[in-house]
Amino acid sequence: MPCFLPIPADHPFPIQNLPYGVFSAREKGPRVGVAIGDYVLDLSVLSEAGLLPSYGVFAEPSLNAFIASGRDFWNEVRATLQYLLDEETTTLSGNRRLRTRALIPVQELTMHLPVAVGDYTDFYSSKQHAINVGTMFRDKNNPLLPNWLHLPVAYHGRASSLVVSGAPIRRPRGQTKRPEAATPGFGPSLELDFELEIGYFVGQGNTLGEPISVTDAQQHLFGLVLVNDWSARDLQRWEYVPLGPFLAKNFSTSISPWVVPMAALQPFRVAGPKQDPPPLPYLSDGQDCAYDIALEIKLQTAAMANAYTISRTNFKEMYWSMNQQLAHHTVTGCNLRPGDLLASGTLSGAEKNSYGSLLELAWGGKEPLELPNGERRSFLEDGDTVILTGYAQGDGYRIGLGEVRGTIVSAPS
Ligand code: CA
Repeated sequence: MPCFLPIPADHPFPIQNLPYGVFSAREKGPRVGVAIGDYVLDLSVLSEAGLLPSYGVFAEPSLNAFIASGRDFWNEVRATLQYLLDEETTTLSGNRRLRTRALIPVQELTMHLPVAVGDYTDFYSSKQHAINVGTMFRDKNNPLLPNWLHLPVAYHGRASSLVVSGAPIRRPRGQTKRPEAATPGFGPSLELDFELEIGYFVGQGNTLGEPISVTDAQQHLFGLVLVNDWSARDLQRWEYVPLGPFLAKNFSTSISPWVVPMAALQPFRVAGPKQDPPPLPYLSDGQDCAYDIALEIKLQTAAMANAYTISRTNFKEMYWSMNQQLAHHTVTGCNLRPGDLLASGTLSGAEKNSYGSLLELAWGGKEPLELPNGERRSFLEDGDTVILTGYAQGDGYRIGLGEVRGTIVSAPS
């Protein structure tokens, strides 16, 4: 599927990908585009020129209207874009004026939050992560709580503090209680951490009272982003009983700017981990519904010249699939709406160098992470930058998720 633009085989955004985002450039406000190589294709320009079905959705400052237009419309737009970008098609490539207006180099872009998210839910679906946390804080002989193998555990997160990659992350302040202290204190979090996750946007929602079945769930997925669910471990430890995390997670959650459509990821569907015991019928899927996506975490402190890879894992190891998460979320009749964000929970692989949080990589501060310049980290310090990346490797091409990055800035005084 060659594109008329030259795109290297290891580039995250070839013609097979076409992720959607919201950008501004050239003194025009936020609008919808797709990433292609080192450019963004301005869909508002193409739709103005009559090359895309025009429902006004591409001039919007979010993807919500496009997402709500449904799968048939997404498929039509994706097929049209692949046709227009094909090296055999001259409609765009042969029209210099249109091409200059529609294709904008990435250096000129400001990226925005792609979706106005109504509700954000965070799961806890990596078995190794749940085992690691249970081993550290509860019982190493019995690390999983009794419910974990029977249902995808989750909590309702905070949508208002979702930010796009590049936004600074301010260290939160809050109430903590040190184990040796008699009473709690107040101050900047001293145990600030990242969490490597993948998030997915709901496409078509469901009516209140009408669950989405596990076998229909795939039809309700729009696309994926990388998520960094920043966490204040010391705040969490004191506040989380009995209702779960609250302030420890609500100060910022970063997402990558480009939403990779599920259509681009279909060649990478694989079997997920074997589930034992077998889940109840409402969670039994019976299809391959994991995705083979390589993931990487890089850390760059203020003193380092380059980012350093501290962990590598794969999305296919997630125990509870997106289909099961969606079915479980709605089984009570809870309604999801187009553009709602559901996230996987921290993704940790089986090996120590594949864990998805600093809490696990430095084992609760007992084994600080050694960096190549001699620095050590148990938790994040001001000036640290965390970069999450990921891609699915095809035959001669890659479907990249791009990156989500954030730098820690000091707590308010
Ligand atoms: Ca999380």
